[in-house]
Amino acid sequence: MDKVIIKNCNNYKVEDLIVIINSGIDLLGGWGKFIRPQMTVLLKVNLIGPKTPDTAAVTHPEFVRAITRILMERRCKVWIGDSSGGAIAGISPTGRSFVVSGLEKVAMEEGAIIKNFDREGVVKIDTSAWEMYLAKPLFEADFIINLPKLKTHSAGIYTGAVKNLFGCIPGLRKAAYHKRAPNPKEFGAVLAAINESVNVGLNIMDGITAMQGEGPTAGTVYHAEKILISTDPLALDAVASKMIGINIEDNPIFDAARERNLGEWRIEHIKVEGDYCTPPKLPKFKLPRAFKLRKKVNYGLMVAVINLLKARPKIDKNNCKNCNICVESCPVCAIDRETKIINYDKCIECMCCHELCMYKAVKLKRENYIGKMISRLLKI
Ligand code: SF4
Ligand code: SF4
Repeated sequence: MDKVIIKNCNNYKVEDLIVIINSGIDLLGGWGKFIRPQMTVLLKVNLIGPKTPDTAAVTHPEFVRAITRILMERRCKVWIGDSSGGAIAGISPTGRSFVVSGLEKVAMEEGAIIKNFDREGVVKIDTSAWEMYLAKPLFEADFIINLPKLKTHSAGIYTGAVKNLFGCIPGLRKAAYHKRAPNPKEFGAVLAAINESVNVGLNIMDGITAMQGEGPTAGTVYHAEKILISTDPLALDAVASKMIGINIEDNPIFDAARERNLGEWRIEHIKVEGDYCTPPKLPKFKLPRAFKLRKKVNYGLMVAVINLLKARPKIDKNNCKNCNICVESCPVCAIDRETKIINYDKCIECMCCHELCMYKAVKLKRENYIGKMISRLLKI
């Protein structure tokens, strides 16, 4: 039976984190089961963009520091790697994200090596459905630990261990996959293919501060105070989803992962250990509007209602700082550089602009009057 360890943790003090994470790993057989001295261990963080740790958008640098120290203690070489979303002046912002998030500082202080996936070369992967280029360090490290953040997602509802591997695609190539896989189900197939190609040995989720609402960058901080650990990314996501009030089978982004047996998703077949024996519910956790809509109407009505309620991205010029991240990240070039008006005939509603705007200037708006009325009635 697949195990997910859930530990309580209410702060980012490194000494506390080391004790708590070690006690969680002990329940999976101890570090010795996974790590040997002299191994090169890659920590795949969530570095979605140039965000500070207090936003809960990125894996907290002290969380990464704690795991780095544990591994260094075991005489491992530690790499910290990711590729951020979006683009600044046509260049991926990963380098800046490492600085702003505090991860570069942690790496320097602890003797770890930063692996900016945009600059490390790629390995070509042929899956049955996709030809992919993934960052080379993923295939050079001896062991990979996935360090996702517990967050909601305005389009994909939830983002955790499985989704965190999207950052294995370097730089601006990510936009092409959004374009080729514009809906959650198709996008989920891309994620499943990446997860099958990358040999992750452990997943340790930073759910101490989580993001609720319109994540993965524009939501608000929720103090979930949990660390989740598992060898199985799908089981971990099934448990984390349950904690925030979602059944993983109700989220189409996981359809492909479930169909391709990426891991265990049936809660009754997952053994929860640590400080809990079942997934604890996170009280008053706010889900994105996209999910509330699914819960309020039956499936038969949903398709029709979705079209009425569709919230489209719209740029609020009052908040916009003209950084043009949205313009340069839009996979279909739907945003006018000068006016910031979105061409909805081109827009594929990937929500990248909403996800990547650091100034919360890309709002999700309903243009349709009937939709606005229904949304008020349904309170979504
Ligand atoms: S909407 Fe946001 S991302 Fe786009 S130009 Fe304005 S501030 Fe930058
Ligand atoms: S304008 Fe549309 S297609 Fe372009 S990034 Fe925003 S949501 Fe995606």
